Formats: sequence, C-alpha cells, structure tokens
Amino acid sequence: MIKDYNKGDLDERLAEREWMVQTQIIDRGITDEAVINSMLIVPRHKYVMEDKQAYAYYDTALKIQAGQTISQPYIVALMAQALELKAGDKVLEIGTGSGYSTAILSRMAVCIYTIERHHLLANQAKDRFQNQGYENIEVHIGDGTLGWKEKAPFDAILVTAGGPVVPDSLINQLAIAGRLVIPVGDKGDQRLLRVTKTMTSELIEENLGLVRFVPLIGTKGWSELNNMNLE
Ligand code: SAM
Repeated sequence: MIKDYNKGDLDERLAEREWMVQTQIIDRGITDEAVINSMLIVPRHKYVMEDKQAYAYYDTALKIQAGQTISQPYIVALMAQALELKAGDKVLEIGTGSGYSTAILSRMAVCIYTIERHHLLANQAKDRFQNQGYENIEVHIGDGTLGWKEKAPFDAILVTAGGPVVPDSLINQLAIAGRLVIPVGDKGDQRLLRVTKTMTSELIEENLGLVRFVPLIGTKGWSELNNMNLE
C-alpha cells in the first residue's frame, strides 16, 4: 500500500479506508498513485447520510438525499484514474451529489468546477468542502449537460450520471488533449466511455466497461418528465 501521506491529517476511520483501498481499489487493478492516495485521505463517511455511516467503507453505492447515490468507491477510483489527471489540470465535474468524487478529484488537480442540479445536494456539498478546507472547488447549481462555458476549456471532464449520448456541449468545452469520462446508454446500464480530443481535435472513444448510474437529466440528457414516467 502506498503511504506517502501525512497520517496526522487523517481521522479515526483510517484503518477502514486502508482496508477499502487495498481490497476494493488496489486488488482490482487501480494503479494511479494520486487516486490511491486521495482515496486513503478523503473521509467517505463524511459524505454519507447518518443512517449509512456504518456502511461508508463498504463495496457499494449508497443512497443519498434527493433520490440520488454516492457511487461505489471502485467506480470513483476507476473514473478518476481514467481522467489521467496532472497536478495543473482544470476539471469540470457534472453531478456533485454528495461531493465525495469532487473531493477525490480536488486532491489531484489544480481546480474543480462542479455542477449539481439539486439545490439541497449542491449546498450540502459546499458546506462539506468548506468544513474540510477544500479551497480549489467551485460549485454551481444548474444543468451540467450544458457545461460551464465561462470556465472552459477543461483538461478533463467527469460526468457522474448516465446520459443517452455524449453531449456536444461538453466536447466543445474540452481542451486539446482533454479527456471526458461519461456513462452513456439507457436508464438501466451504460458503457463508461472515455473520449479524448487529439491535437487535431479528432475524438478517440474507448469503452471502459459496463456501469449503472442514476440518470443525467437536462437539455443534453434525459428529460425529467420522461424520467418520472419510468421510475
Ligand atoms: N459524484 C457523486 C458523489 O460522489 O456523490 C455521485 C453523484 S450521483 C451518482 C449523480 C448526480 O448527478 C446526482 O446528484 C444528480 O442529481 C446529478 N445530476 C443528474 N443530472 C444532472 C445535470 N444535468 N446537471 C447536474 N447534475 C446532474
């Protein structure tokens, strides 16, 4: 296990995080040291609801407010690794949710712009970032499928909800050599795609495997009405 982090910064549930990182992250093939360190440090139990505290380090997604979920730790690690972040990267995240994946990314890049459509979740995440001293995260409440034009271009974009297509708005806001990671498919299963914009602005698409996310709802995603009918 990689341990070049300062244990003094960590809290009482470190042993559980070490167990989570070893058995769910490293043993499953995640090798990016920045991802591993970030997952060792960020206290996942501070991003789950009171009644889910006991399960914070289990190998599972958990329900959060507004009918949404905090993703399974392995999937967060897989997506973070797929972004191939460098310390100076500027990142856009769509789907702040609990704020957990935002916190993971914020330790790996220079700044994170994150968008959440539910006020309650966005405001709760803002409080968490403030309480935990994250100063490189900006939260916006709105439709993330349109991206965040004023802050573009982004070196990396992460979408943490599943959409029907790759939104062209996000492709347009991706920098040259930028990476976009997004689940695309139907409301049940999606393929986790990484789209890379080459030096000549061509797009290279890779399939990183099957995943299951809550729906990406917005102008370039699923419609809310459609979603309500199917739930
Ligand atoms: N990254 C989150 C975490 O670590 O807790 C997981 C988020 S959850 C799987 C997906 C989130 O995407 C939900 O909070 C949902 O409200 C949000 N979402 C869905 N469509 C969105 C949109 N168009 N813009 C912004 N957020 C959206």
